[in-house]
Amino acid sequence: MTGLYTRCVANVLFPLQERLKHHDTARVRRALEASQWWSRTDLEALQLQRLRALLLRAARDVPYYRELFQSIGFDAAQVTCLDALRRLPFLTKALIRNNIEALKAERAEGLARFNTGGSSGEPLVFFIGRERVGHDVAAKWRATRWWGVDIGDPEIVVWGSPIELSAQDRLRHWRDAVMRTELLPAFEMSEARLDEFLARIRRRRPRMLFGYPSALSLIGSRAEKTGVRMDDLGIRVAFCTSERLYEHQRNTIERVFGCPVANGYGARDAGFIAHQCPSGGMHITAEDVIVEIVDGRGQPVPPGDSGEIVVTHLATGEFPFIRYRTGDVAALDPSPCRCGRGLPLLKDIQGRATDFVVAQDGTVMHGLALIYILRDLPEVAAFRIVQESLELTRVELVPGPGYGPSIASAIERGLMARLGAGVRIQIELRDEILPEKSGKYRYVMSRVDVREGALCAT
Ligand SMILES: [Zn+2]
Repeated sequence: MTGLYTRCVANVLFPLQERLKHHDTARVRRALEASQWWSRTDLEALQLQRLRALLLRAARDVPYYRELFQSIGFDAAQVTCLDALRRLPFLTKALIRNNIEALKAERAEGLARFNTGGSSGEPLVFFIGRERVGHDVAAKWRATRWWGVDIGDPEIVVWGSPIELSAQDRLRHWRDAVMRTELLPAFEMSEARLDEFLARIRRRRPRMLFGYPSALSLIGSRAEKTGVRMDDLGIRVAFCTSERLYEHQRNTIERVFGCPVANGYGARDAGFIAHQCPSGGMHITAEDVIVEIVDGRGQPVPPGDSGEIVVTHLATGEFPFIRYRTGDVAALDPSPCRCGRGLPLLKDIQGRATDFVVAQDGTVMHGLALIYILRDLPEVAAFRIVQESLELTRVELVPGPGYGPSIASAIERGLMARLGAGVRIQIELRDEILPEKSGKYRYVMSRVDVREGALCAT
């Protein structure tokens, strides 16, 4: 059952806002809602058609690809199957960093600049065109509606991006009020803060939650510990994203809020890659994204085997992402989903793991609070933060051009402002940051015991 207000927002106000931003979101979403039921064969035919268009445009308008295709003798007009992609080299973060201007399409308009800490902790600056924004928002919108909720339903968002948090202008307030979205900052999770969050969620009575699984389960544990009931508010679903979702987190969130957890996998750089449906399948946004799974030598693995996720985003004509290495690990699931959607499935996604850290005064913080201090520094090529104890935090750092003592002391000051003035910050320069033995990257690791809900500072 959908309320009149939600229908008005979803059918009129949100599409209008997207149109004003030149995004074709509503039309794309309607098309996606039809194509999700197509057969694998029809979806692959659509992928091939869009892949050809993307490669032809890259050959015509994007200097980096024009040169690349010439140098390896690749003719986009001759592409007749999806396997032709394998003739192209991978796109890496280092290649994007070194070719940032040559990757922009010559006639691109309205490119927006983004940056990300990335799954490996390597900061990355890149650009996103309007077409791609419209497609990513539409894919997220489609997945939202799989769960019987819609844009415009009351929502609590537990999030931590300082960019979004500082954009507290009037337009943003107006938009959040119309969309009925309330933002809770995920960075600082003191007991007092968590109690305030619980009160705000009870007051709002949201139909959906959205946030990091680590943050939502921490809020849930606090509710359980203090005996605050949260399963009587009518919450329909909790959307989790940006991090690996652990089984114990899923259990806590489902138990406390009395709703299913819907896992999403994607990132600003790689796009909206996959989302869980109510039958449990992690469906790939196959209309927009071609996913390859490759081994350590870059060769495709057999279906069902794990390997690195490589994505080609088909709506990126203005700044192409073709065979982009995500650094994350997953497997393609060859079995069909019970829901009947033809969209292929991902399983066993690993990679985005971010620990909580504990400040000297006992405040528990999301690891992103520390990542943001280093992420935007062009002088830092890659990093990993390891909280060894309440007294000592180490930063493993690959220096970039311009790195020097003033950058080092800026990092120290930034970390001490978060963790406490008495904390020792030890910066160690490295040639590279390697993943852990399991193959996954963890860019904030804490060895301090953060027992969920206990908020202990041992
Ligand atoms: Zn499904």
